[in-house]
Parts: sequence; structure tokens; C-alpha cells
Amino acid sequence: DPRLKAISDAIRVVPHFPKPGIMFQDITTLLLDHKAFKDTVDIFVDRYRDMDISVVAGVEARGFLFGPSIALAIGAKFVPLRKPKKLPGEVISEKYVLEYGNDCLEMHVGDVNHGERAIIIDDLVATGGTLSAAITLLERVGAEVVECACVIGLPEFKVIAIVCCQNNGRLLDMT
Ligand code: IMP
Repeated sequence: DPRLKAISDAIRVVPHFPKPGIMFQDITTLLLDHKAFKDTVDIFVDRYRDMDISVVAGVEARGFLFGPSIALAIGAKFVPLRKPKKLPGEVISEKYVLEYGNDCLEMHVGDVNHGERAIIIDDLVATGGTLSAAITLLERVGAEVVECACVIGLPEFKVIAIVCCQNNGRLLDMT
């Protein structure tokens, strides 16, 4: 896809952020490039528009920058998966392990119903720990997570990373 190089070129890499040794993939520069930003959203929209998806779940925070545009374009609702204590209503929570320490994602009870077909959007997948927690959260309320989609897949820096999942929160492979 000829659009991928321009998308890739629009992503800035910031060395030693937020800690020494980390090469931070910064998608804020992609958001500044109208064509590359639109192409990114369009690639996801083209993939999911005819897949009977009713839920686009976005992972805080950068999943919120792409997910709503995709949801509007494919006629789905947008569901925010948030860090603890951000959502005001009743939530279900899923803890997960990071390289250093633990984290947790929460979703409002009632946002997603049993049997709904969902996709999960984030800016980047590395170990897949975050996406696995997100999948588990949606599966706990009976949703079918069709796929996860990220702008960037590490470690080999793949632009547009589609992550398949099977019905127990496990990630299968990345294309
Ligand atoms: P994983 O759980 O190891 O797959 O890490 C993915 C999560 O960490 C996503 O929510 C990303 O937003 C975040 N993340 C990790 N590294 C980076 C980066 O270099 N840039 C932006 N986000 C990152």
C-alpha cells in the first residue's frame, strides 16, 4: 500500500523518552499531517466497514485519537477503555502486567452488550499486554473481539498492525 510509507514517515521517534534508553514512537506528528492522518483512518475504515462491527473500543489515551473517527465512519459506537478511577459510572476492571509494574483498564458496565462484534484500537502494540487486557474486558461482557488494530507494531516497526485474537484474550499474530 503506497500510503504506508508516508504514514511511517509522519511518525516521529523521540529517543530517551520518557526514560533513558526508550525510543518513543510519537504519533502526534502524524496528527499534524492531514493526508497521512486521513489515510491512516481510511485504511482502518476500509478494513472494517463491511464486517458488521458495532463497537470500536479505544485504549486510553492514544486509542482515543483514532477510534472515534473510525467508529463514526463505520456506523459503530465508540467505547473508551480507561485507566483506573477516570470513569464515573459502574465499571468492570482488568489488571495487567507491564514491563515495570502493573496497570489496569476499566470500561463502563452497559456500554457493550453480549454478542456485539467489537474491534479494539490503540496507537501501538509492543508486548500485547495492553491489548490482551482490553480483549479480556470485552469478552467478559460477552462481546466478540474480531480484531485489534494499531497504527504501529513493535519491535520491527510495522505501520498498521492488525492483531488477531482468539476467544480467550490471547493474541494470535500480527499482519
Ligand atoms: P504493550 O502493552 O507492551 O503492547 O504496549 C502498548 C501500550 O504502551 C500502548 O497503550 C501504547 O500506547 C504504549 N506504548 C508503548 N511504547 C510506546 C511508544 O513508543 N509510543 C507510544 N506508545 C507506546
